[in-house]
Amino acid sequence: MTQLTVKDHNRNAAGLTYIYPVISRRSGGLSIGINFNTNNACNWRCVYCQVPNLSLGAAPELDFALLEAELRFFLQDVLHGDFYDRFNMEPELRVIKDIAISGNGEPTSVKGFAKAIELIIRVTKQAKIPDPFQYVLITNGSLIHQADVQEGLTLFNKHNGQVWFKLDSATEAGRDLINHCALSLQKHTENLLISARLCSTWVQTCLLQFKSGQGLINATEQEAYLALLQQVSQQVTLQGVMLYSLARESLQPEANMIASVTEQQLNDFAQRIGQLGLTVKASL
Ligand code: SF4
Repeated sequence: MTQLTVKDHNRNAAGLTYIYPVISRRSGGLSIGINFNTNNACNWRCVYCQVPNLSLGAAPELDFALLEAELRFFLQDVLHGDFYDRFNMEPELRVIKDIAISGNGEPTSVKGFAKAIELIIRVTKQAKIPDPFQYVLITNGSLIHQADVQEGLTLFNKHNGQVWFKLDSATEAGRDLINHCALSLQKHTENLLISARLCSTWVQTCLLQFKSGQGLINATEQEAYLALLQQVSQQVTLQGVMLYSLARESLQPEANMIASVTEQQLNDFAQRIGQLGLTVKASL
């Protein structure tokens, strides 16, 4: 018998193309992951990324009919079938905590993003998942200026969805070092503002250190990050900040150049963010 554990983020665990179950450490139950990036392609290349064979690009053409069939099948299996028994899940974890649009790349890069969100919400509503459960979009935020993505976020917001928006550094140098993204800091900040105006938005930040001494852990980086958060939260309401470090090993070439921060470092920084009046969820 297979046992899903809190460390098991295997996208193939359920044998489906788009749907994968994860026991979420943060939420204490089952998270139903939806992966549009079946080609392991992302428009960023974060040094801590855990996607195997990550390539530069967008999600492939989405098979909407297959996504719908898989989501229907999977929800039926979890809610009325023997999914929990087959995976030998502990009784206290037998609850659907969220449906998370996440995966092996940037999910908003899929063509027809808003249509996919509409499909997911429609199928989920029909399955009648007991409350409370949450829709989550885990994104690097780089495509939120696009009309189709904004349409999806507006729909998400109507159903109490949340955006988890990546912000690992508030300097161009830090972003170059950590995220290898083409988007400027200014554009990224504008996208964060758009996200927060359209939908409940949490900032998600990976606090890591480079063995060379760089990273968000240094004083210049921390000041820039705090100043940016302050500037943003004067204009929009943020739900807060999720601060974490390297939970799992990076699959990028920089893997042996980076390290997790200590609990003390994480908590110290969380406290400084909290002083801005923001809610902070910190976990190593
Ligand atoms: S944005 Fe996410 S999927 Fe893309 S490279 Fe960074 S961690 Fe990996």
